[in-house]
Amino acid sequence: MPLRNAYRPPGEASLWESFLRRLEATIRVAQIHPATIQYLTHPKRIVGVSLPVVMDDGSVRNFTAYRVIHNIARGPALGGVRYHPEVSLGQTCGMAAWMTLKAAVYGLPFGGSAGGVAVEPQKLSRRELERLSRRYVTELIELLGPDEDVLAPDVGTDQTIMAWFQDTFTMTRGQTILSAVTGKPLPLGGVSLRDEGGGQGLVYVLADLARANGWPLEGATVAIQGFGQMGSAVARYAVKEGLKVVAVSTSRGGVYNPEGLEVAALEAYYQKWGHLAGFPGGRPVTNLELLGLKVDYLVPAALEGAINEQNARQVQARVVVEGANGAVTPEAEYLLRLNGAQVVPDVLANGGGLVLSYLEWVQDLSMLFFEEGEVQQRLREFVHQSLQAVLERARPLGGDLRVGAYALALERINEATRLRGVYP
Ligand code: GLU
Repeated sequence: MPLRNAYRPPGEASLWESFLRRLEATIRVAQIHPATIQYLTHPKRIVGVSLPVVMDDGSVRNFTAYRVIHNIARGPALGGVRYHPEVSLGQTCGMAAWMTLKAAVYGLPFGGSAGGVAVEPQKLSRRELERLSRRYVTELIELLGPDEDVLAPDVGTDQTIMAWFQDTFTMTRGQTILSAVTGKPLPLGGVSLRDEGGGQGLVYVLADLARANGWPLEGATVAIQGFGQMGSAVARYAVKEGLKVVAVSTSRGGVYNPEGLEVAALEAYYQKWGHLAGFPGGRPVTNLELLGLKVDYLVPAALEGAINEQNARQVQARVVVEGANGAVTPEAEYLLRLNGAQVVPDVLANGGGLVLSYLEWVQDLSMLFFEEGEVQQRLREFVHQSLQAVLERARPLGGDLRVGAYALALERINEATRLRGVYP
């Protein structure tokens, strides 16, 4: 086993293990130098910190936080920061590796990193959340920056938090450095359509793939698990492309209407109630029922591991498009393939967010800002080129898009590693 000496994080590490298994599968079909494999199986930097926060009642609580840089062969690290109670070191290592791959699939000049805080953000007041966010940056300040490691949003973090990150970075350094953080509000150097980028990019991937396969888009059915930033944007853009959104859900269950759901009404309902239970435009479904619907496209857009060994046999969709990173486990993917379903991997499907982070980083370095139309246009081009490159690489590999995307990414990382050599 070539990966025998890989780094193993303590505790829950299924996402990192998934990465190792997929890496192992890819190096059987792609020429990756053993030195590159050494780099990829050992994250470059692993940092764990405690964040003491003064709570509103005057007490002090500590929150465990991480920042992992997986690889910087192709450029400075960039990766999201997750606020979620299940954040662990193993999960953060996995997410960081995902970012290395995603940047390489999209041909962007970044390495991969990820961070997180084990916290349930809904349980903190706004002031507590602000103190926590500022302390996160303060603890890591020496390690961050546009040429070192760029902070981006992920599950549980939003534009407001990115603004606090940016302000703390700037105040601590004593210099305004806009490009150290992406996903910022527009007046602080953010890009238009930022919150939509991930969902929009996913729909472009789906539409381009349908065209490449000669499948009609008009009236094709989609079920979406998760109605956060990613899920809701997928629903909106899917309708724009002529698809029919027949089911959506949140962690509290969802709604189904074979005639198609009205997305604007769903969004208004979700805004008001914070869930979709009782939405009048469809009948209630559980998350498990939603995964088993006979649809053209199933988009798991909630959290990793949503489609796993337990439920994969029930999936009847023709194509599963990973909205959430790691949404399909390697075991589930095997079962889906046996069933004839095509899987569009996260590193291709949800790269839209990363593309927008790249555009934001570029405009903040150059202080020359993109117009909305230009952002949209460039996103479409990045998606188109990346999908074509993955399809081409997948062709001699039986057309499997995961293996194709991994082979493409690993070969690009391998080439950069080879050219740079091992320092010193
Ligand atoms: N959390 C994002 C991801 O997983 C980071 C990219 C971004 O939105 O900037 O791709």
